[in-house]
Amino acid sequence: MSDTIFDKILAKQIPAQIVYEDNDVLAFRDISPQAKVHVLVIPKKKARNLNELRSWRPEDVGIFFQKVASVAEQLGLAGSGYRTVLNTGHEGGQSVDYVHAHILGGESLSGRFA
Ligand code: 5GP
Repeated sequence: MSDTIFDKILAKQIPAQIVYEDNDVLAFRDISPQAKVHVLVIPKKKARNLNELRSWRPEDVGIFFQKVASVAEQLGLAGSGYRTVLNTGHEGGQSVDYVHAHILGGESLSGRFA
């Protein structure tokens, strides 16, 4: 699997505005924010997209999604609410082949479909 831009961010080969990191995930601000707060969360264990998470242990999938929620809470979005998006494949609008959850918030997204 060739290196994506997110592999390089994870390896600290290119800079990113990191908001959270632990043994399981890295979270950083999207370079082209689509909301006041727009953060991407990637698992350190690589998968190309949601399809590939099917081969993971359910526990590891669960940990990833729990961490996404924890990052949202740390960003101060848990109470007000936020949107999470996972784009999968070409027609799903996925442009980086490393699974990532978008967290969008900090403003009302009602009526907007990112
Ligand atoms: P996708 O379209 O694959 O769901 O989302 C990829 C996201 O990665 C896009 O929102 C895009 O703005 C963001 N992105 C692409 N390249 C970079 C980069 O080099 N740094 C950061 N922080 N975000 C990036």
